[in-house]
Amino acid sequence: MSKEMNLFEMVQAQFDHNAEKLNLDPALRAFMREPERQLQCTIPVDLDDGTTKTFTGFRIQHSTARGPAKGGIRFAKDETIDMVRSLATMMTWKCAVVDIPLGGAKGGIIVDPRELSARETERLCRGWVRRVYDFVGPEMDVPAPDVATNPQDMLWIMDEYDTITRSRKPGFVTGKTVGVGGSLGRTEATGYGVIYCVREALSRLGIDFKAATASIQGAGNVACYAVEKFVQYGGKVVAVACWDSNAKKAYTYSCEKGIDPKNLFAPGTLDKFGTIDPQKAKSFGWKQEAGDAWLKKEVTVIIPAALGQSVTQDNVNEINFDSVKLYAEAANSPTTLEADEVLKEKGIYVIPDFLCNAGGVTVSYFEQVQNNMNYYWPKDEVLEKLNNIMTGAFKTVADLAREKKCYTRDAAYFISILRVAKAIEGRGWVKPKK
Ligand code: GLU
Repeated sequence: MSKEMNLFEMVQAQFDHNAEKLNLDPALRAFMREPERQLQCTIPVDLDDGTTKTFTGFRIQHSTARGPAKGGIRFAKDETIDMVRSLATMMTWKCAVVDIPLGGAKGGIIVDPRELSARETERLCRGWVRRVYDFVGPEMDVPAPDVATNPQDMLWIMDEYDTITRSRKPGFVTGKTVGVGGSLGRTEATGYGVIYCVREALSRLGIDFKAATASIQGAGNVACYAVEKFVQYGGKVVAVACWDSNAKKAYTYSCEKGIDPKNLFAPGTLDKFGTIDPQKAKSFGWKQEAGDAWLKKEVTVIIPAALGQSVTQDNVNEINFDSVKLYAEAANSPTTLEADEVLKEKGIYVIPDFLCNAGGVTVSYFEQVQNNMNYYWPKDEVLEKLNNIMTGAFKTVADLAREKKCYTRDAAYFISILRVAKAIEGRGWVKPKK
């Protein structure tokens, strides 16, 4: 990606490229490349020291054509409205590619969550709901967790909504704690969904899972459950990389024998923001290496599962193109446009982000369905339904890419864009030229 292009411009460029290939009507194109509604707000929060601090928050609804807008809320100190716009847009393509009846949205607050106490975080969550209240709702726009937010935050968000509406509407937000409207399997869903796609891709590539190795960037919720499922299927994860918030730098932790997921989940290994404790890592025999070492590993599968734009033209050539056969984007927009060109040229099989990490929103959808019925499924049932949806969506994308002899990312875009365009036309919002 060129230095001046921000993430929103990048996802618009990807949309334009695929809309052009599809010869999409210009009026539809103009409508679909922008969010339907955008809200920016100020949120005053009383801090524990008795002072008040004002935070800036956002909620962006990119599309409601296929159903209520859906997407998480992030806490990030460098959050921008364009970042939220880009992620909202990707949610539209994500829900469409797995064919769930939802649109796309995203929320964000400019905040370093590590600087807030639990009570301050609660007040921030509640303050955000009070600001976005008129704009959202179980039938219009449904938030969920994302980077640095968790099930507890979702409960505060739900409770504030319930307090304002004098009702009980658990379907207003997903990713809630189990027992208070949450779905079993939601925590694991994104990471497991990534590996269901990896399993299907490896099988198409003729690679035995038991012979596969992986290197993963990230040690948050998505990465940890991806490691767990990868190892359950018989593969070996040789490295995980994470941001160390104390050292203020990234590290790769590697283990030739394979990272044991039990150690990742052991008490004290990780803090709630995905930083691995170096002493713990040492006690497991993991080697501490430079932050970018994960990308250079001689493995079968590379999985960026941290933040956006982490694989760029400056580091993409560090990938070991002799060994790596599969690149599975567990994070949202982890690859810049220039880096993507390199992956394409090298012929690596890429599972694009909005397909690869759609497991989270898929189980969020199941959570809404269960909330509406007020009847909850056992975990096996949730995961079986998730597996079916992810496997089916992967197959549709992979078959189209093979048939059209095109890049998998383009095939996924073709499917999503056409599904969303059909809903927009069907509703009569945009009349294409005859
Ligand atoms: N934040 C997740 C994502 O980016 C999940 C969104 C949701 O469940 O609505 O896909």
